[in-house]
Amino acid sequence: MTGKTQLKRKTQQVIRMLEKHLGIPVRNNDRKSPDPLDMLIATLLSQNTNDTNSYRAWKKLKEKYPDYESMYRARTSSIESAIRTGGMAKQKAARIKELLRNVKKRYGKFSLTALRNKSDGEVLEELTALNGIGLKTASCVLLFSLGRNSFPVDTHVHRIVNRIGLVSTPTPDKTFLAMQELVPPDKMYSFHTNLIRFGREVCKSQRPECYRCPLIRMCKFGQKKVKVDGNRKLNIAGGKKRDFMLLDNV
Ligand code: SF4
Repeated sequence: MTGKTQLKRKTQQVIRMLEKHLGIPVRNNDRKSPDPLDMLIATLLSQNTNDTNSYRAWKKLKEKYPDYESMYRARTSSIESAIRTGGMAKQKAARIKELLRNVKKRYGKFSLTALRNKSDGEVLEELTALNGIGLKTASCVLLFSLGRNSFPVDTHVHRIVNRIGLVSTPTPDKTFLAMQELVPPDKMYSFHTNLIRFGREVCKSQRPECYRCPLIRMCKFGQKKVKVDGNRKLNIAGGKKRDFMLLDNV
């Protein structure tokens, strides 16, 4: 068996194990998918802050400017005051203005609905060409706004898949490229969503709770931290669920 085949098999084991303990997340087809431009701005607001604060900033911004034309025409300082609760308001306000300017210049209007007719590769290419939009954000637009199979890699996902040994990559962008080959397309939504929750509740950045982790038999990093106890069970299914507060409300 080649190394790549082994890694694909291991990835599928991890996916199954997380689905067993956390459930199989499904896309909510009853709810309208977030508009791609809304998602870009919401993601921008979510940087360097928590879900609660970024959601407050998002709500205030949308209340103050019901459409992107009025947001674009507003003074940067006025946008800044609307998003103050989200932190780094000055920089974020300037970036929102720049993003709107670039979208208008490229697509002729304040909308990214044109992306719906493009291939995954074209969407990634066009979004990452916009100043300040990286692979993670572009991949989130594919997955959550356009309903495609994409596997966004943020710091949680990057940390966990490196610890488990699915990849050995120095940056989230390199992890993104490596993981596209390992994750079956129809499992990208489930795996991404479960990893975010798993990273917040168990495989935390500081002090991962390896002693109660069902993946420990596959994780050399965790095995170094604790002795394997076969009777321990993961018990996080009833835990506090706080994934995608922002995205659920965009
Ligand atoms: S064993 Fe520890 S490091 Fe490995 S995946 Fe589980 S929590 Fe993370």
